[in-house]
Order: sequence, then C-alpha cells, then structure tokens
Amino acid sequence: MITASPGARITPSAHAPMTDWRQLWREAVTDAAELLGLLGLPHLARQLPPADAGFQLRVPRGFVARMRHGDARDPLLLQVLPQLAELDEVAGFVVDAVGDLAARETQGVLHKYHGRALLIASGSCAINCRYCFRRHFPYGEEMAAAGQWRQALEHLRRDDSISELILSGGDPLALATSKLEELSRGLADLPHVTRLRIHTRLPVVLPERIDPAFTAWLAALPLQKVVVLHANHANELDERVDTACARLRDTGASLFNQSVLLRGVNDDAEVLAGLSERLFAAGVLPYYLHQLDRVQGTAHFEVDDIRALALMEALRARLPGYLVPRLVREVGGEASKRPV
Ligand SMILES: *Cc1c(COP(=O)(O)O)cnc(C)c1O
Ligand code: SF4
Repeated sequence: MITASPGARITPSAHAPMTDWRQLWREAVTDAAELLGLLGLPHLARQLPPADAGFQLRVPRGFVARMRHGDARDPLLLQVLPQLAELDEVAGFVVDAVGDLAARETQGVLHKYHGRALLIASGSCAINCRYCFRRHFPYGEEMAAAGQWRQALEHLRRDDSISELILSGGDPLALATSKLEELSRGLADLPHVTRLRIHTRLPVVLPERIDPAFTAWLAALPLQKVVVLHANHANELDERVDTACARLRDTGASLFNQSVLLRGVNDDAEVLAGLSERLFAAGVLPYYLHQLDRVQGTAHFEVDDIRALALMEALRARLPGYLVPRLVREVGGEASKRPV
C-alpha cells in the first residue's frame, strides 16, 4: 500500500501569490488628474487638454510605479500623459498616417512583405501611448472573432510562400490564452508556417501577463517563436519585466525590442545606449528604432532625420554592433521597412 508522503506535497505558500493580469488590466489608471496626483504633480492638471484630446489616458499601475515622483519630464509619463500640443493641427500629420488602416480593420490580415503575414489579432492595449496611430482607431475589444481567425488561416493556407505569422494589434497578448490556443490549433495543419512572431508591449507594461498558462502555450507550440517587445526607455524595465523576459526565453522564444524615437523621451544618445544595455541585461536584443508615423496629434514627438542619424552615429560609437537598433520608417507600398 502506498501512502502519501506529506513532504512530497506542494504547499501553496511555495509560490508567491500571483495577481491575475486581467484584474491588473482593469485597475489601470484612466484619469489624468488621478495620475498627476499619484506622481505629486497635481498642479499640472490645469494644462490637460479637454477629454484627453480624444484618446483616453490608460496606464497600468505597475508602469506608473516606474515613473519618477514629482518629475513633469519623466520619460514614461510623457508617453502616456495627454498634452495640449496634441490639439495642434500640423501640416503633414494626418489621421491615417500608415495609409492602410481601413484595410487592416476589415481584413485583419496584412500581407505586405515577402514570407511574412501580419494578423491584427486584437485592437486592445493595456496602455495608451500618445504617439500611436491607435489614437484615431479605437478598435473594438473583439477583433479576433472566430470568423476572423478563419479568414486569416484561409489566407495562410492559400499562400505557401508565407513561413512566418506575425501577431500584432493593438496588443495580441490582450487576448485570453484560450483565444491564442484556438489560433494555434488552426495553425497545426499549415506545414509551411514555421515561425510565429508576437509583437507585444504587454511584457513591459503589464509583465504579469506572462503567466504559467501563457508560457505553457508558447512552449508547446511546434514552431520557432519570436517575441518583439516594445520599450522606449530603460526606466520601463524593472525586475518584473526581467522575470517576464526570462519566462519568455524559457519557452524557447527569441526576444527582440522595437522602440519609437520620441522627442523628450529618448532622443538622446545616452538614453538610447542605456536602453540597449538594459534590454540586453534582460536577454533582449534591440531590433528597430522607428521614426514616428506622422499621425495627427503627435507632431510634438517628432525628431527630424538629421538628428536621428546623428544619434545613430553616436550609438555606433559607443555600443557593440549587436546593441545598435536599425533606424527605419514605415512607408506605404515598399517591400520592407525603409532604412533612414
Ligand atoms: C513591420 C511589418 C512586418 C515585419 O517586418 P520585419 O521587417 O520582418 O520586422 C510585416 N508585415 C507588416 C505589414 C509590417 O508592417
Ligand atoms: S499599439 Fe503599441 S504603441 Fe500603440 S497604444 Fe498599443 S501598446 Fe502603445
């Protein structure tokens, strides 16, 4: 007769209690005056644009905790705080800067580059970044209805030149893991798709999203896995983000980062070098540094190409080549991102 050994039992206290990421998502700060109060900057509330300039503030509390108290120029705060400058009309800054947003929304699949198809898997984000095209496209929560998976998978099935599926959005990790499981079941009979790439800001802004159910799903996928994070400043990475990255790497995924070059946030060689170093410490390689899409309401973030190139020069002078991101711009109708 076998008796259970008490010593073999897993005690719940052996695991730190984990807050459910959906709860943290719901508890995000959505009131600009509250955010300023939390940061000891209540006087700045007088300078807020009405109704958040049409794009609601949203920022998880864990991300707020990484902002410097009392600093109106904090690089994380500047990425999320509505500004009066967003109301300025600036020539060349338009609602649909990337040009294909309407098409994206109806089709859900973007197949612009050879071998790679991009699926708009979710319209939601845990954070609202002021510089993002999403400010004009408040997609619904449920982009990834079953019908849309079907449409995307149909497209992949018809074209065996596609070897990589990119999940993007919005943020694809806004989807419940059960939704991602649905998608991967659909991929099972598409032998030419050998890589899955996920573009996500969640491991940075809400690292609790990288929970055991998600990592189990990712680890079990019979595909090569690539995760492209999105961080713009070293201060966005803390120990929780390190943990999320370590868990992602444990699934066998390769980790990269893309950033957007933003005036006042990271348009400084020291800051960009610090970001690359910090990413590498977390096991992440810098991939792209994007020139801003010229989206209405974002002109105050723009860095001109001359300065951007000078920053790249300074980065090359101080970093190993593998820590220097590629400076690129998205231009409609081209076969790849265009190097600046
Ligand atoms: C950016 C992008 C990709 C990925 O391009 P890479 O250069 O491979 O990172 C793929 N499809 C679309 C539509 C894109 O915008
Ligand atoms: S898509 Fe990315 S950049 Fe845009 S709001 Fe969402 S997380 Fe921010």
